[in-house]
Amino acid sequence: PESITVQELANRMAEKGADLVKALFKMGTAVTLNQPIDQDTAELLVEEFGHRIQRVSDADVEIGMQGEADAPETLQPRAPVVTIMGHVDHGKTSLLDALRGTNVVSGESGGITQHIGAYQIKTKGGDLITFLDTPGHEAFSEMRARGANVTDIVILVVAADDGLMPQTIEAINHTKAAGVPMIVAINKCDKPDANPQKVRERLLEHEVIVEDMGGETQDVEVSALKRQGLDALIDKILLQSELLELTANPDRAAEGNVIEAQLDKGRGAVATVLVRRGTLKVGDTFVIGAESGKVRAMINDKGQQVKQAGPSTPVEVLGLSGVPMAGDQLTVVENEARAREVAAYRQEQATKKRTTAAPTSFEHMFSALN
Ligand code: GDP
Ligand code: MG
Repeated sequence: PESITVQELANRMAEKGADLVKALFKMGTAVTLNQPIDQDTAELLVEEFGHRIQRVSDADVEIGMQGEADAPETLQPRAPVVTIMGHVDHGKTSLLDALRGTNVVSGESGGITQHIGAYQIKTKGGDLITFLDTPGHEAFSEMRARGANVTDIVILVVAADDGLMPQTIEAINHTKAAGVPMIVAINKCDKPDANPQKVRERLLEHEVIVEDMGGETQDVEVSALKRQGLDALIDKILLQSELLELTANPDRAAEGNVIEAQLDKGRGAVATVLVRRGTLKVGDTFVIGAESGKVRAMINDKGQQVKQAGPSTPVEVLGLSGVPMAGDQLTVVENEARAREVAAYRQEQATKKRTTAAPTSFEHMFSALN
């Protein structure tokens, strides 16, 4: 069951067998149509062709990754990955700060927590929650367009004094398109002109029906400024997370997605990677988008060096050949020769795509127009 012939895979991908053979050849593997290929090679192929295997098992759906599922007995609970969205000035950044400030268990609170685009908090009960500090909807849809559905839960921030605004509605639409559950955080409830009930009513018009209105969407009144309602919000995230039964196999070669990346003076190309499954370790050889590398060092969201990072953990990775793009996939491979092969192939594919650049979806078109 661990192998599939090239022709079978082509059928499942609705591609020509010959095209797969060609792609494999470029990746350094010469095979014929009826020859079996191993799971890792199949996964890479699927990825190169930009497909997602139609998933059968729950585990696949949960992981939301390209490639094959891990065996059910290998799966372990993992932290939810949460993205905060909403209209400008409704308090996304304030809410993130408030959540971090009141919940980070750290001796150095108020100290130097460096910005890596994602961070994890530990709740009073000891549960971990990963927050993505994405700058807006564009990043969210851009990541999705690149096949990286990394978010498990969206928190929609709506200011209770301002109500539903254009970007609120955009965020609702993006979240629906992604099929991700939403929790509504009605913010700025400390303000005298706050009208949370009106927010709930207006949400109805966009088919977001909160529990009080007979629907299933959780909502919570908060004030990021006064740090009110944060525990309730965290409880709702954990409840939602429980319903999703989020799991991943920590004991395999790591896969993850780039959250952000840049060229850093002195440190070279650096990427913040969210590990999706497996455990990323110092010394691992990897392909990351069209780049490759070997993990020279990893730094967590608290600025500490770490030796390894498991599922749902964001880490800064050093040791890249160049700067990848947000959403790019990191795949740990067996050796450097293999990494270079795959990276070269991806680079070529990327060049091809650029020269025939076309919007990949309506959503993508919209964000391109903005
Ligand atoms: P973002 O653009 O969504 O990230 O919004 P910010 O977090 O930057 O907040 C925009 C403004 O709203 C800032 O001046 C905040 O101080 C203010 N703000 C954020 N949350 C609250 C809140 O709960 N109550 C009040 N009164 N002001 C808030
Ligand atoms: Mg902000």
